[in-house]
Amino acid sequence: MSFFPVPDVMARDIYALDPRVFTDRGIRFILLDIDNTLAPYSENTPTPRMARWVAQLQSAGLTLYILSNNKGDRPEIFSAALGLPYRKRARKPFPRVAREVLAETGFSPRETAVVGDQIYTDTLCARLCGATAVTVEPIAFTNIWLRLRYWAELPFRLAHRAKNRRSRR
Ligand SMILES: [Mg+2]
Repeated sequence: MSFFPVPDVMARDIYALDPRVFTDRGIRFILLDIDNTLAPYSENTPTPRMARWVAQLQSAGLTLYILSNNKGDRPEIFSAALGLPYRKRARKPFPRVAREVLAETGFSPRETAVVGDQIYTDTLCARLCGATAVTVEPIAFTNIWLRLRYWAELPFRLAHRAKNRRSRR
């Protein structure tokens, strides 16, 4: 196993993630990020489209769980609206909280995916737990720091593309 935070799967956004992306890989459990994955930092309202996406995954037998580093009330708001359990202040990339959730729910790392937008947070957390890293593009760059971080993440996003090109040959 590599500890380089190279995504296993990349997608434009969560809506490009069909249930089969997960089920084809034997994944049954999804640890879902909120900020810039489910909703931009500036948006506090869950939408019907989000709920439809969650329901589509659930009807394919997948279990979703919100795992957020957010310390505010967004985890409560989104978890209540979508009917999902959550942990906030998860301190990704540190794997401790994610491992606690796996121990509580009984899912193994092999059947788990971490879905998020940040390489050094979500993708690295997946690596450190032994879960599948599903990395989406951040929804919005609301400040310069988010854009700078994205540039710093680019080598790993490009490494994913290079790996995929090789495996398709
Ligand atoms: Mg995020």
